[in-house]
Amino acid sequence: MMPRSFGSYRATTRTHRMNTTADHTHSGFEIPEDYSDPSGRPVDHPLLAQFVGAAFDGCTSCQDALLTLMIDDAVTTGRLVELACVATQDALGGLPRNMTDHDAPGLASAEFRRLARAGLDGANTAMFDECGQMTATERRAAANSAADILIGQLA
Ligand SMILES: [Zn+2]
Repeated sequence: MMPRSFGSYRATTRTHRMNTTADHTHSGFEIPEDYSDPSGRPVDHPLLAQFVGAAFDGCTSCQDALLTLMIDDAVTTGRLVELACVATQDALGGLPRNMTDHDAPGLASAEFRRLARAGLDGANTAMFDECGQMTATERRAAANSAADILIGQLA
């Protein structure tokens, strides 16, 4: 079975820049900044770039601190999940079942799968709405999987 498409999303760029996080520095991740969710709510790009940069560097102390800020922001968490889906789609041509279906064996959290499934077939708004309805704990689980997927795809 062919992987299903997540929809038409803007691809990430893969250049890096430096960001200072807490008392040390990670290379941030360049993400298109002229972006808001389908309802026009803005994404916190500096936070998202710092989070992905820290995750990319394997710095769990920064990653955890930034994650705590990010999960209070459903739009930014949704954008992170979207980026993970875009990266996967770029690499595999679609999303595998174990990123969208609860019963397929795999490492992605149930919360990540819930969001990825909501966004299938171009349902951007549904994915962001679903993320907005999640608790912070659920968003944390979704964001952690998204970070793992991004790092795995891009490292
Ligand atoms: Zn750090």
